[in-house]
Formats: sequence, C-alpha cells, structure tokens
Amino acid sequence: MKEIIRTLKPYIPEEPATAVKERLGVDRLVRLSANENPYGTSPLVREAILSYVTHNDANYYPDGNATDLRMKLAAYWKVQPEQLVIGVGLDEVIAMVNKTLISAGDSIVVSVPAFSEYALNGLVEGAEIREVEADFETGHYDFAALLKAVDDTTRLVWICNPNNPTGTYETVEDIRNFIAKVPKDTLVIIDEAYIDFVTSVDVPTARALLDEFPNVAIMRTFSKAYGLANYRVGYMMTPLELANYMQTIRLPYNLNTLSQVAAEAAFDDQAFLTRMISQNAEERAKWESLFDELGIHYYKSEANFIFFSVSDAEGLADAWLKEGYQVRRGQWEGWLRLTIPMAQDGAIMRGILKQFMN
Ligand SMILES: *Cc1c(COP(=O)(O)O)cnc(C)c1O
Repeated sequence: MKEIIRTLKPYIPEEPATAVKERLGVDRLVRLSANENPYGTSPLVREAILSYVTHNDANYYPDGNATDLRMKLAAYWKVQPEQLVIGVGLDEVIAMVNKTLISAGDSIVVSVPAFSEYALNGLVEGAEIREVEADFETGHYDFAALLKAVDDTTRLVWICNPNNPTGTYETVEDIRNFIAKVPKDTLVIIDEAYIDFVTSVDVPTARALLDEFPNVAIMRTFSKAYGLANYRVGYMMTPLELANYMQTIRLPYNLNTLSQVAAEAAFDDQAFLTRMISQNAEERAKWESLFDELGIHYYKSEANFIFFSVSDAEGLADAWLKEGYQVRRGQWEGWLRLTIPMAQDGAIMRGILKQFMN
C-alpha cells in the first residue's frame, strides 16, 4: 500500500437522513450541512428521467463521451467540445486532474480554509500541500501570499470562487492579476461550484480567463445550484492538451445515462436557476442582517451558505439539531457553516438563534 494512504483522513460523507432522524427522534430533518439545494431540482429533470427509463436499455453501456451533454455545454460556454472533462461529480474530476498532473515531490498551493478534496487527492499522488491562510477578518484570499507560495515545484493552484467554506467571492480582475504572475507551467484551477449564487456582479464567472491564459481551468458542478447532487455530474473546461491527457485516464463509462439525461434537463431549465438564486440572495440577506444585529463574526457570502463564529458553536448546532436542523461543524473550532434554508425554516432557525444568544 502507498505509505501516504495510512496517514490520510477520509472525507466523511453525510449520514443518511433516515438514520439521523431515527437517532434524534425527529420527524423532519432539514439538512443544511452539505450545501445541497433546499429548493429541490427543476421539474424538467423528473420528466426527462421518467421518459428515459421507458427505453429499457439497462443492458447497454452508456455513451462514454456524454455527447449530447458535452455539445450542450460546449455551445453554451463557447469552448470546443473536446475541452470538457466531465466526471461523476466534480469530486471525480478533482481526482483525475491530480492523477494526471501530480508526481511525488510536486507542490500544490491552496488557500485555507478550503474544500478538503483538493488536499486529499494531491496527497494521494505524493504532493506537498502548501496552505496559505485567508484573511481572518474578511475571509478573502491573500493573493500576494499565494503567489509567494508558488515555486518551480508547484503544478497546481486552487482558487475556489466563491470559496467553500468561507462563501467569499474574489473578483475576476483580482484573479486575472494573480494568474498573470503565476508561471505558465503551473495550472490555476478556478472551482466555480457556487458561482451561480453570486449576485453582486453581472458576470461573476472567470470563463474569460480561459481564453487569456494557457494555464487556466474552470470547474463547474450540477450538485449545488442545479440541485442534482444525487446524480453526480461535474465538469472542467480546460486547455485542449490537458483535456486530452485526462481523457486517457478517465474511466470509459464514468457517467451513466441517467446522470447525462438529468444534467441536460437541469441545464435547459435556466428559469428554475434564476428563481432560486434570487430567493437564496433574499434569505442570505436576512441572515446577514441578524448576524450584524447580534454582533456575530461572519464572512460576507456570495454563495448558498454562510460561515460564522459563535462562542458556543457546538451548543448552537445542538439546539438547531434538536428541532431538526442540521448544520456543518468541525471545519474550524468555534465556527459553523449553514446552508441558507428556505424562508419558513430560516425564520424558525433565526428564532432559535436569538433565544440561544440571549
Ligand atoms: C460540493 C463541491 C464540489 C463537488 O461537488 P460534486 O458533487 O462532486 O460535483 C466541488 N467543489 C466544491 C468547492 C464543493 O463545495
């Protein structure tokens, strides 16, 4: 066995809701710990799936190229279809990119706190992970410090935008200025898992940078804004050469047809997205104004979650859980990450919070 595997801590997946409900003795559990979409999924997805299953072709392998989905995404993003690497969730694409690029002794630069999959997959391939702390007051990236951490061993820099778990958004201009100073043989990946939730700027995506630099890739997932976490579809837009290398190590039939069909239908319903994004922004604002009122330290969020600190974080998480509201703990001592709930649940939860802080 690889020596490093003995030392790694696995990603702990969410406990199934039925098990949590049974353990707590609650009828309804609202899971706000995994940034899933509380507004559900476009109804078009269900229709597309139901219509697909009548084909009765379970005995045949799926389209290993995910052609229809690939064409749809390529047309929308104005990239060549071959520039897309589509995976079983972004998780698989993150693993693939590490497998392709990283050898023992390489380094990877990441701003912390960060999504844990970046480091985990890098470590498996033998990388040294260089963690650069975000600004504690605001949660924003320290681009100057990130740049200092890059040297000729650095194959990969991660920019998660908005960042998980801080929820903070970095402007395309700041990212562009950073990438301009990064050596061209270091790939900068911009993980835009939550970019659809950004409402402070008109064009939040860094898609334009793909045409400006040879060493940029952009990641997207259907798991969050599209509410398709169960179907596992994520993708990366990359320079063509890297995409071709990644295709050689990709499992030939990674995406089953249900996932492909579901993602296409979800992508077609941009109206669902628009509605949900504005509701999320409205609810997010209510949380921020209460946090301001209570003097709670939080990071200004442009995502569908908010990261904040209270002195008894465990106590607050327990108080919410008792009423069936599960939030994410354990990322930073004294901090919690809350997926922004729908209006009615949000009102109840803020009531519990106010009582708790009294
Ligand atoms: C949720 C998440 C992903 C992965 O999502 P998949 O469900 O595997 O597509 C990737 N990056 C970040 C930052 C995430 O929060």
